[in-house]
Amino acid sequence: MGETMSKRLKLHLGGEAEMEERAFTNPFPDYEAALAAAGLTTGTSEESGCVRTQSTTDEFGLPFHHDGKIIHNFVRRIQTKIKDLLQQMEEGLKTADPHDCSAYTGWTGIALLYLQLYRVTCDQTYLLRSLDYVKRTLRNLNGRRVTFLCGDAGPLAVGAVIYHKLKSDCESQECITKLLQLHRSIVCQESELPDELLFGRAGYLYALLYLNTEIGPGTVCESAIKEVVNAIIESGKTLSREERKTDRCPLLYQWHRKQYVGAAHGMSGIYYMLMQPAAKVDQETLIEMVKPSIDYVRHKKFRSGNYPSSLSNETDRLVHWCHGAPGVIHMLMQAYKVFKEEKYLKEAMECSDVIWQRGLLRKGYGICHGTSGNGYSFLSLYHITKDKKYLYRACKFAEWCLDYGAHGCRIPDRPYSLFEGMAGAIHFLSDILVPETSRFPAFELGCSQRN
Ligand SMILES: [Zn+2]
Repeated sequence: MGETMSKRLKLHLGGEAEMEERAFTNPFPDYEAALAAAGLTTGTSEESGCVRTQSTTDEFGLPFHHDGKIIHNFVRRIQTKIKDLLQQMEEGLKTADPHDCSAYTGWTGIALLYLQLYRVTCDQTYLLRSLDYVKRTLRNLNGRRVTFLCGDAGPLAVGAVIYHKLKSDCESQECITKLLQLHRSIVCQESELPDELLFGRAGYLYALLYLNTEIGPGTVCESAIKEVVNAIIESGKTLSREERKTDRCPLLYQWHRKQYVGAAHGMSGIYYMLMQPAAKVDQETLIEMVKPSIDYVRHKKFRSGNYPSSLSNETDRLVHWCHGAPGVIHMLMQAYKVFKEEKYLKEAMECSDVIWQRGLLRKGYGICHGTSGNGYSFLSLYHITKDKKYLYRACKFAEWCLDYGAHGCRIPDRPYSLFEGMAGAIHFLSDILVPETSRFPAFELGCSQRN
């Protein structure tokens, strides 16, 4: 017994040391404590916010007014930082890999950042910048991969949207045609193509839905979308049968022989895509196939509220968008929207608590496994709950990003990219300026998809 105890203790302490190693201790008071310091309480904040004036919020460090508008000083700090980081990024990109066209680490990601800055500021020069970058990628398509984040579907879909915004319909259509030429290889069941978001079918599906959101419904016809969706569902059913899990998890997926849970390579990213209204998955499939599969993954939750990176992994380690709660939370929020059951929202809130505690990552400030990607989970939760606690948390993670580079984080391989580096942090900071319309880049679809 003594031995068991000490082993257990060791495991426990080991876990804590590990956590310490992966994330910084969150130095910010949480929302309730900040409210208390401001002499407000959660229950009455709506009313008392009207009585208490701007000076209260300024004085006590709440970064927004009672109506959720970000306070002027914080806006100014963010704007100044964005300008500074953009300069650093442009300088750094001079030595970046000219052939990396992906949204994840390459030039399409930079085009997406400028598209975002155009959306937030309406400054046309950002749109033209975006065009410059995407043109470069369109000359360099390599035909190796098919997804929005890591393959040719990214530059083609982003190109189509930029040309559409510039009213160059011919060029836009050309991109769409090329994107649809990939379709055949996606729906082929015999291919070795996985289903996950970064390299598989769900990542191609995202590109199709992105076009219909950004350019308009029907840009990609329903039947093309349906075929991709069906291929994903068939593939999930097949693996579930092979693994004898049809009762518990009717749609099962793997990548490199591992059943991943997270958003990037795993089931939560795939289920999230299948639940998008624009994917038009029929109600019966949603209820009989998708929902029980989601519930199966939910039962793998750690006591902390975090999720494992794969079904066979039992260590509570990673709090990234790619692996762990910051990715799974998007699946839970979408499940709440689609199935309207409180349990999904409750667990999304639990994810949020873990992210708040362990989300200031030593890996850096990026989207995929960094503080910005984790900060986005708060913004998304703010959209569906309208609870300012989550806006507050997002603002605090943004405040952390204002000290970009000062925390001694690891430098990622692509330090200026959208998903690993600086472009991601700039994207997140710019969304804090318009928190009500923010969206996770290259993963969440636009406002027209919201209910
Ligand atoms: Zn990652």
